[in-house]
Amino acid sequence: MRFSDVIGHSEIKDRLRRAVDQGRVSHAQLFAGECGGGALPLALAYAQYINCSNRHDGDSCGECPSCRKMEELMHPDLHFIFPVNKQGKKSGEKMMCGDFLKVWREQISSTGGYFDESMWNDRLDLGKTLKPLISVHDAGEIIRKLSFKSFEGDYKIVLMWMPERMNIEAANTLLKILEEPWDKTLFLLVSRQPARLLTTIISRTQEITIPRIATEDLMAQLIAEYNLDEQRAGQLARLAGGNLIEGRRLAAGSDDLSESSFDMFCSLMRLSYSNKHLELLDWAESFSALTRDRQIDFFGDALRLLRESYMLNAGMGEISYLWDKEAAFCSKFAPFVGNHNIEALVAEIETARAQIVQNGNSLIVATHFALAVSKMIVKV
Ligand SMILES: [Zn+2]
Repeated sequence: MRFSDVIGHSEIKDRLRRAVDQGRVSHAQLFAGECGGGALPLALAYAQYINCSNRHDGDSCGECPSCRKMEELMHPDLHFIFPVNKQGKKSGEKMMCGDFLKVWREQISSTGGYFDESMWNDRLDLGKTLKPLISVHDAGEIIRKLSFKSFEGDYKIVLMWMPERMNIEAANTLLKILEEPWDKTLFLLVSRQPARLLTTIISRTQEITIPRIATEDLMAQLIAEYNLDEQRAGQLARLAGGNLIEGRRLAAGSDDLSESSFDMFCSLMRLSYSNKHLELLDWAESFSALTRDRQIDFFGDALRLLRESYMLNAGMGEISYLWDKEAAFCSKFAPFVGNHNIEALVAEIETARAQIVQNGNSLIVATHFALAVSKMIVKV
């Protein structure tokens, strides 16, 4: 993958390029951000740039032997670690990601590297309950692989996707490796929730925060992929909040995730403005039954809906940026959101989101959140 294959993020690309060009490549780097923002494609493009023998115009050449192997994700000095699991695993059976490399390559090439954990779980056909993990066997395997000489004098690169899925043993093994940097060896960790990593691991990495994709960049991408007109692409790009995965879901017409967040948001706000405190507790309970990823998505969607309602109330909103159902709800709800409460509401959502990301007890977080929000939802 070349930098030019990665959507937007020109500043981060500049930073990464400069580090390589000036020979200041730090031995462990943490690419942190939403999967739909492009943290994995950026790490891949960076790896390719580092080992390219004919870099020019700020990008890897895409044609030298190293680039060709990188493009096929088959470079002998590029090692992947990612969470895996399978249905019908026998007890004591070792799960190694080396056994899933073919699926992994397909997943990257079919999505351009823009996929999240639920897409990966589906690809592994894990169903609803089985979770993939990075085991200590895979962490130990890195040591074995790194002890070989690099093939062409290139950097040996270990790219670990979702390090937060390491169990504690695996994390401790990785920590030991990071503590003693190896010559010409580079660790790229691509994480969605770095707060769930050991702080000792984080402190040994250089963190690069990958923000959302800028709306205009996402819009151009959706136009290119789905042949949409500008207005529609702009609408979807805004709804997707800088997340290509969400943008693709919306463009393909399946927005089930947002829909369930939308229902949760409506019911919370209805209960709040009608002061139904007991029912708010039920709401918190059903919230806590969602998976943690869905809970985190909820807060993202809630922020967006709140912002749109606020804009509508302030007379600055454009109803066309909302889905039909959302527009109907937000225009009724708008009078309850204004200068008197918007900041406090946003702060409450951000706090609750952070607590969930940090693995807080979701029932306690949701109960506090629902009651706090309900006090703020008043018409003025
Ligand atoms: Zn090249």
